[in-house]
Amino acid sequence: MKVTDHIKQAKGKTLFSFEIVPPKKGKSIQELYDNIDPLMEFNPPFIDVTTSREEFIYVKKQELLERKITRMRPGTLGICAALKHKYNVDLVPHVLCGGFTKEETEYLLVDCQYLGIDNVMALRGDTMSHQKRFEPTNGGHTYATNLVSQIKDLNSGKYLHDVVEVDACSDFCIGVAGYPEKHLEAPSLQTDLKRLKEKVDAGADYVVTQMFFQNKKYFDFVDAARACGINVPIIPGIKPIAVDRHLQLLPQFFKIDLPEELISAVESCKDNKQVRQVGVEWAIHQSKELLSAGVPFLHYYSMGKSSNIKKIASEIF
Ligand code: FAD
Repeated sequence: MKVTDHIKQAKGKTLFSFEIVPPKKGKSIQELYDNIDPLMEFNPPFIDVTTSREEFIYVKKQELLERKITRMRPGTLGICAALKHKYNVDLVPHVLCGGFTKEETEYLLVDCQYLGIDNVMALRGDTMSHQKRFEPTNGGHTYATNLVSQIKDLNSGKYLHDVVEVDACSDFCIGVAGYPEKHLEAPSLQTDLKRLKEKVDAGADYVVTQMFFQNKKYFDFVDAARACGINVPIIPGIKPIAVDRHLQLLPQFFKIDLPEELISAVESCKDNKQVRQVGVEWAIHQSKELLSAGVPFLHYYSMGKSSNIKKIASEIF
């Protein structure tokens, strides 16, 4: 079922959802199940599964480090199939511009259709570590908007080569990313919102936000988006702080602000066990306020370990 239909069916009730990251290649899927199992009691209508593009790794060969390029976390679609089979829940695979040609994207979408997947999240993907700015893959898309258009085309039976006979069109519900504190490369929040509007005009059905730690940023973002004519659901993404290093890493990677109160609380912790508890309490506080504002979903970034998400969900749902 489509994410937007889950929202309609809920009739104003806030629902629980979360995002998982596929295991690194070579690792068993069991750890993922062990993390998902405790969250299923909160009835998530869907689970997002991230996609990672290729990356550089360094392999030691005769005392020398050799640089290789590989995808360390393949298997997004395999994970989707396994989770659908095990939990009978809707899965939302992330589809990227970076690292994929349009042709590969088409194959992926065809597989999604065969698997009965109704939703996909269309994303550009990040800049590779050795590049200064995002460089599109040869034969791939430059912006998420282009990817949304490809998915929309497929939904209307238009394949890349336009020569196939179609008797069952896909009907993907399309999610895209939104940034309450603007995307790190955008010159201003207003310009970034204009880009978000382009994604919605191209066919995106809903938005999931980047993490934020002050709800005001989300509320202001939703107001600004509505003022720009963006009228699709905007789902807040929440990440509980889990280790003290997050104080540096999150602002560095995502260019987001952390509130002073949260910083002081983390700094006064004796160890990461205490930090994890602070993160849980902060996310509960955020979730309660968002819930009373009537957001459609509370969507949590689990980053592989679910015990903190379970504590939060137990207080909220
Ligand atoms: P876009 O919407 O294409 O925007 C990228 C930048 O280009 C923005 O600054 C925008 O303002 C600008 N822009 C857009 N259109 C134009 C235009 N026509 N001309 C000029 N500038 C333009 N990354 C992964 O690798 N895998 C994942 O699974 C993943 N999941 C994510 C889930 C969520 C909810 C979020 C918020 C992010 C996720 N990301 C993921 C990270 C995402 O790929 C990065 O944030 C990426 O840098 C931008 O992706 P986007 O889809 O927002 O890009």
